[in-house]
Amino acid sequence: MEAFILRFEERVAPTEKAVKEAWWNLATTGTEEAQAQLVRAGMEYNRLFEDGYEKVRGWYEGRDDLESPLLRRQVEVLYRTFAGRQGDEETLDRIEELEARANAIFGNHRGVVGGREVGENEIREILRFSDDGSLRRKAWEASKTVGREVEETVRELARLRNRLAREAGYPDHFHRSLDLQDIDTGELDRIMSELESATDAPFGRLKADLDAKLEERFGVGTVMPWHLSDPFFQSCKHDAAAFPHPASRRGSRSAAGAGDGDVRSDENLDAVSVADVDRFFRDKDLEALTRKTYDNMGLEVRDVLAKSDLYERAGKSQHGFCLSIGREYPYDVRVLVNVRPDSYWMDTMLHEFGHAVYDKHINPKLPYFVRSVAHTSTTEAIALMMGSLVDDPTWLSAVAGVSEAELGEIREYLLWRDRADRLVFTRWALVMFHFEKALYEDPEREDLNSLWWNLVERFQLVNGPPGRNEPDWAAKIHVAVAPVYYHNYVLGHLTAAQLKHHLEERVTGGPFFMSEVAGRYLIEAVFGPGARNRWEDAVLRATGERLTADYFVKSLR
Ligand SMILES: [Zn+2]
Repeated sequence: MEAFILRFEERVAPTEKAVKEAWWNLATTGTEEAQAQLVRAGMEYNRLFEDGYEKVRGWYEGRDDLESPLLRRQVEVLYRTFAGRQGDEETLDRIEELEARANAIFGNHRGVVGGREVGENEIREILRFSDDGSLRRKAWEASKTVGREVEETVRELARLRNRLAREAGYPDHFHRSLDLQDIDTGELDRIMSELESATDAPFGRLKADLDAKLEERFGVGTVMPWHLSDPFFQSCKHDAAAFPHPASRRGSRSAAGAGDGDVRSDENLDAVSVADVDRFFRDKDLEALTRKTYDNMGLEVRDVLAKSDLYERAGKSQHGFCLSIGREYPYDVRVLVNVRPDSYWMDTMLHEFGHAVYDKHINPKLPYFVRSVAHTSTTEAIALMMGSLVDDPTWLSAVAGVSEAELGEIREYLLWRDRADRLVFTRWALVMFHFEKALYEDPEREDLNSLWWNLVERFQLVNGPPGRNEPDWAAKIHVAVAPVYYHNYVLGHLTAAQLKHHLEERVTGGPFFMSEVAGRYLIEAVFGPGARNRWEDAVLRATGERLTADYFVKSLR
């Protein structure tokens, strides 16, 4: 068994590295050549799993007899890696091709507003700041045009993924994918229902407040999706007018502590100036703030920054991610983002570098197949915990150098915004969860467009544009290239809340991000052990209790 694993590692390591390199090349250039290279590398990787599956499955089934917990764990990971790559060559190759195509479409597509091509950053800015309802509508519609271009690719992917799942004895890809991610479907259903009922009432109140403000701001009787600041209403961080604070209703802007001349001259001056958190970042060096944040925790990120691709460029992926290329020490960890000096990108920088410090500190002495993060949800937990610092008044003052005078009344707004945003995110995640479940139940169904809007209306309380029949679901990149993934953000949020509580109550006794002890604790208790324990045990070891939704739910109140 051990000899097999070692031999297999020798073949996997270079191929896996080549796939990651190809992924990076495609994301940074968007060229057809890079796309072809990624497809070739992916196919070669898949070939590695053609032989040996029966043997590995046999070991997996008999794993309880293994004495060494580390060997047993390697067998578990190896089995899931193999199982995820089983299927006929033609189907596997076709999936590689289609995923690369979808990635390229998302990388290269630009929506058009008023005859001009606009990137996602521009669309976001229009939806955040413009008071022109018709421009907003055009920008929102432009954000969805990629859906049509990618829809057929996504449907075909869903069909093929389902074919593999059914061949392996699962009802569909949704179930197979969760099983291969070591997630219990029943338990996940239970968590999602718990979050639905915990958010029902507070989200309803929040949305009603938000609608009232937006109706007033835009002079409309019904709030439409383009009146919200995020194209999918994933976040409400920039729905400035929603804050139900007296400062946003008073006639004077002094309450906001903003006299810096950087305030827009619209009717919502007060609300906007209170809520304009971006102003804290306009003249800041986001790289420097990222460095400082991690320095405070004793976590080095200069090496990662040096290898990263941080600024906008034509052809480059418009999203943010962190990638660890290969598993050789010293690790090659890189971040791709499209930084602009605002709070969205500050959040994203802190988030992606959260993934990076995790990847960087995995114990290099661990055997190859467990030399990785414990689970996607665990690394998302670190990233989310770090990203949320942009709304933490203590971080803003101690790290970002925002003065007490400037913070002033905005403190209260920030606390509100942080909580409101978690509510909004949870409802959005419920849409993704239920939509993908239904998509894989039947990718052929003709009513996916209306199914999507039914879920959006039910969970997010957002009105669908009357008569709209567009594949808006396909405009969400995860549905195409990161399928059955969203629950990892949800579990990540639960883990982050629980871990933060543990750190501050039992480890640091104060803000975790101001403490080198917190950094050392994370290295020892979370990063270092890699995937040597099952993810649920990893959470238990790191926080002293099993994963619970309690801390997260408490943070919504
Ligand atoms: Zn992430």
